[in-house]
Amino acid sequence: MTALADRIHEIRTRISVACEACGRAADSVEILPISKRQPASLIREAGELGFTRFGENYVQEGSAKALELPHLDFVLTGPLQRNKAKPAMQAFREIYSLDRPELATRLRHLAEELDLVCKVWVQVDLWGETTKVGGCPEDGLPVLMDALGNDARLPLQGFMAIPPPENPEAFAAVTHLRAVWQDRLGQPLRISMGMSDDLEAAIAAGSDQVRLGTAFFGSRTMAP
Ligand SMILES: *Cc1c(COP(=O)(O)O)cnc(C)c1O
Repeated sequence: MTALADRIHEIRTRISVACEACGRAADSVEILPISKRQPASLIREAGELGFTRFGENYVQEGSAKALELPHLDFVLTGPLQRNKAKPAMQAFREIYSLDRPELATRLRHLAEELDLVCKVWVQVDLWGETTKVGGCPEDGLPVLMDALGNDARLPLQGFMAIPPPENPEAFAAVTHLRAVWQDRLGQPLRISMGMSDDLEAAIAAGSDQVRLGTAFFGSRTMAP
């Protein structure tokens, strides 16, 4: 097996152990490989192993890879500035970092102008000062959801979160938030949380998708 296939095998083992520990089915957790600062050759190899969707953190880097690897889909998991919204929508199938109403308004205008559909995830930060990774605070969500509306061009997938590690309650807070908003919106919502170092805690709390960079690809080799 290649080093990449080895790492993927290890990840799958970790996920099934974590699922078993909390009584979930191993296939209830999706892997989203995060390919930021990884070379296109390695992403191509992951594509050959059956992965078709990759998360990128920088609009420019991700757009270049989307052009180079047109048979694969790329999604944006890194922060999005308003002035990069247009190239982002052109390159990425999904945007994970919707975290403020102005950005929702901008994405809606662009989706209409460009005549495209882009799935969106709302990034939440329920922990304020402790993380500083971006995200909408809980009390900002009603305004953000209003701005997003029920726009068929921007179908809402769920919540993306980066909880501070080693605090099980931080992970559980996202699951609670999901339940509240599923009720309010009357639609199923998914949770994307858990990275290379904390996927077990995220799965125990109910995450549907783990975003794995280094555990999947190895250490990041390209300059940021
Ligand atoms: C880099 C990154 C990841 C993956 O991080 P690893 O620790 O390498 O698994 C996941 N999500 C986001 C938003 C990231 O920026």
